[in-house]
Amino acid sequence: MNGFGGMDDLTKDQLALRARARELAAGPVAARAAEVDRTEQYPWDNVALLKDAGLLGMTIPTRHGGQGRSWLDAVLVIEALSAACSVTGRIAVETNMGAISAVMAYGSEEQKKLAADMVLAGDKPAICITEPEAGSDASGMTTRADRRGNRFVLNGRKHWITGGGVSRLHLIFAKVFDEQGNEEGVGGFLAIRDETPGLKITKREPTMGLRGIPEAVIDFEEMELAPSALVIPPRGLRKGFADLMNAYNSQRVGAATVALGIAEGAYRLALDWSEERHQFGRPINEFQGLQWKLADMSIRLAAAQSLVYKAARSGEGGFPDMLMAAQAKIFTSENAIQVVNDALQCFGARGYSRELPLERMARDVRMFTIGGGTAEVLRNVVAGAILGKKLPQTRDGWGTRSKPA
Ligand SMILES: Cc1cc2nc3c(=O)[nH]c(=O)nc-3n(C[C@H](O)[C@H](O)[C@H](O)COP(=O)(O)OP(=O)(O)OC[C@H]3O[C@@H](n4cnc5c(N)ncnc54)[C@H](O)[C@@H]3O)c2cc1C
Repeated sequence: MNGFGGMDDLTKDQLALRARARELAAGPVAARAAEVDRTEQYPWDNVALLKDAGLLGMTIPTRHGGQGRSWLDAVLVIEALSAACSVTGRIAVETNMGAISAVMAYGSEEQKKLAADMVLAGDKPAICITEPEAGSDASGMTTRADRRGNRFVLNGRKHWITGGGVSRLHLIFAKVFDEQGNEEGVGGFLAIRDETPGLKITKREPTMGLRGIPEAVIDFEEMELAPSALVIPPRGLRKGFADLMNAYNSQRVGAATVALGIAEGAYRLALDWSEERHQFGRPINEFQGLQWKLADMSIRLAAAQSLVYKAARSGEGGFPDMLMAAQAKIFTSENAIQVVNDALQCFGARGYSRELPLERMARDVRMFTIGGGTAEVLRNVVAGAILGKKLPQTRDGWGTRSKPA
């Protein structure tokens, strides 16, 4: 049992890993969460804690210095940390999934070593896809990488890049053009901030929640990269983009897990409070109105957790299944918002106070129906998969930018 009635079905090793993460979460991570939010400072001390506890880069294969752990192992850690501090949970996502996993899957030995060493030393890589005019329609990106002699030259702007300004390693997606100006498709490049002239952090977004991690605008101005920086080659129209989306399924499972963890944290607070708080001479959990709220919260959590674990398990030996990752992210992100909102309601006026974590959780959890693919766009993914059809969204069917190979 896990506190809301779901069955975990975990191995001994996984139970021990989760217990370690829970201990860290309930101790030093929880103690700093409010301050991280208030000061909007990246929690480098928590990064050091995760590093010492062996929770950074767990999914990196052992031959590159990691532990070769599964997606589910990472999920258990992220879930536990996020219940106390969602920013720390996100750091665990991005040092185990997303950009790092894309490099470990598609990179050269040299690139894998570079990325693994940086992550294991405490760097949270940034993944740069979204642009001011290309959000849900990532294929509409205009950042370009021109082949010039034995160099790529990148120009363009990305925004809402998580970790911009604190991350050193960047995985940047751009449209690749040959010397004659012909488009080759979308490629992914590695660049290191402060070692790559032309990579400039130009703005930090003032965000509603998750304030301990900067969301930044990054400009690339005549940024030169050697051919060895190309991790995901375009390999013909849409191939690079397909690889990107494949790797991104791990990030989606990770994002769903942070939302799940936040909601679990809020639920546990509400459960305890419902016993402690008395009105009309009885604990408030003796009122059916509250009982049903708590029951609904537990149902949402149990269902969300099942979807997240199932999606994580689907990725063993590769990346999580696209349909399962999308289903998990939609359901979990939407239901986590509801659970946190209900938990806050259980506290009455106290829930609205900044002295309790509920209002922070309500701000933090709101992000997960947006970042990493909106709930609407992911529903298109689910519909396409269950109908067995490509569901192009552009007016002409495929858009003017790149047609499928
Ligand atoms: C906190 C945060 C962190 C982020 N981190 C990163 C990051 O690290 N790297 C990165 O590259 N990006 C990042 N993003 C960007 C994120 O991936 C985009 O915000 C997301 O893809 C949506 O793009 P958009 O904001 O431009 O919305 P738009 O694409 O403009 O969408 C606006 C609305 O229209 C809807 N819509 C659009 N197209 C369709 C359609 N075909 N069918 C139905 N509805 C549709 C959307 O669902 C949404 O409700 C982050 C965003 C946030 C909020």
